[in-house]
Amino acid sequence: MSVTDQAFVTLATNDVYCQGALVLGQSLRNHRTSRKLALLITPEVSSGLRSILRSVFDEVIEVNVLDSADSVHLALMQRPELGVTFTKLHCWTLTHYSKCVFMDADTLVLCNVDELFDREEFSAAPDSGWPDCFNSGVFVFRPSLKTYNLLLQFAAEHGSFDGGDQGLLNSFFSSWATADIGKHLPFLYNLSTSVVYTYIPAFNHFGRDAKVVHFLGARKPWNYKYDLQTKKVMQDGTTDGSLHQLSFLSLWWNIYSASILPLLENLQKMEDSE
Ligand code: UDP
Ligand code: MN
Repeated sequence: MSVTDQAFVTLATNDVYCQGALVLGQSLRNHRTSRKLALLITPEVSSGLRSILRSVFDEVIEVNVLDSADSVHLALMQRPELGVTFTKLHCWTLTHYSKCVFMDADTLVLCNVDELFDREEFSAAPDSGWPDCFNSGVFVFRPSLKTYNLLLQFAAEHGSFDGGDQGLLNSFFSSWATADIGKHLPFLYNLSTSVVYTYIPAFNHFGRDAKVVHFLGARKPWNYKYDLQTKKVMQDGTTDGSLHQLSFLSLWWNIYSASILPLLENLQKMEDSE
């Protein structure tokens, strides 16, 4: 049964992050989500790619990086560093959905996670670097223009303590740490691959139940090299040799090479024949 008023939402402001969004969208499809898939993009995303995005996502919505025509807009203009942050906040404008789950474009689902929609706004998993803060790579929210405007106003007045959406959202939803344990998603719904090295026994004990991996940090799966013949992620001097890390990367690349690359190659052929 499909649920048309709930959606998974992600964001890609450029063609590079679109690769992540496509793999995430495909992973949600592979695990037969009953929810809609929505993608926020900005004008920078190339037109050829948009047709591919539309074949994976139910809805591709173009938003501007700074497009709110009110006083908050002006205040934000003084803070260009908040640009990408502001873009993520657009997810609250998707009011044709009653409830959504936002997922970063560098996440990947390992199983069906539709039960996330049983949670309320604002639910998220702890950040592995500072567990009294949530990580803003996966969160449950309710679209609302009222909340959206309050967030913009908050951003203009207080900025973000980390310069990104995570600092802003943690300040705005500041009772998350203490008020309601039901809003703490299990860490398994936002397993940052880097944590695998910080608490190996826990990973060995619980890691098999991981539901969502998050390739948090500077090096994203699409920055690695992959050998299409051997189906192996190529290791170089800077690859951390952890087997778990490599198995998550391989999973990402398997989806990319099996489902996304063929679409990109078709597009290339069509563009070449024009
Ligand atoms: N993002 C984007 N374009 C950018 C940077 C970020 O579209 O240039 C989006 C994308 O959905 C990404 C999210 O914002 O997953 C958060 O950024 P990122 O995942 O790079 O941060 P991290 O999780 O590593 O802190
Ligand atoms: Mn991320």
